[in-house]
Amino acid sequence: MIQQTLVLIKPDGLKKSLTGNILTKLSEARLTIIGSKTVRVSRELAEAHYRHLKAEPFFDEVLRYSEGKLHGKSYDRVFALVYQGEDAIERVRKIAGATNPEQADPTTIRGAYGRISTKGIFENVIHASSSPDEAEREITLWFYPDEMVEDLYATVSAPVPSPHRVWKTGTVLAPSALGRGPVKSAVS
Ligand code: ADP
Repeated sequence: MIQQTLVLIKPDGLKKSLTGNILTKLSEARLTIIGSKTVRVSRELAEAHYRHLKAEPFFDEVLRYSEGKLHGKSYDRVFALVYQGEDAIERVRKIAGATNPEQADPTTIRGAYGRISTKGIFENVIHASSSPDEAEREITLWFYPDEMVEDLYATVSAPVPSPHRVWKTGTVLAPSALGRGPVKSAVS
């Protein structure tokens, strides 16, 4: 089944200069990238993304990790990508490895590059969606429709919550004119 999955290269992955290694490893899954961007993660976004961990004692520290508060000012961000293809969710999870980097197979991304911090947080360098429902929830949380080159889910016209800034000296084009909007419909 053709699926989409959200991948985040977390602040530790960026700090360890692992972006290239991780993308190379993920290319083994034979998927295509249909959206990508660098995001400075707000507490609101981190809380929404990890809402299933709210009751965990490590919740606050995981939020701080995602917000980039553990890895220095130059790494207070994540690199977010959406992959698409046959069994994308399982293929990426397999390459990512188990949540606990000590238990992850050493040939997986988390097994090779992750660690457990002194505060006990699994710094596992990458996030990957765990199910189709989670993938949809996460992709629609992290990306606007016009940031993707495929139409995935139903859309409506709506004003975004805050005004978008534009370059003072730039030409303002619609996202689709920048080649970032959907180029073909994946939904009939
Ligand atoms: P996954 O990221 O594999 O989908 P979870 O959604 O359960 O796993 O956890 C989200 C993130 O929270 C993990 O990737 C890891 O960084 C951190 N985490 C999860 N469980 C623990 C734990 N028991 N102790 C410390 N950190 C954890």
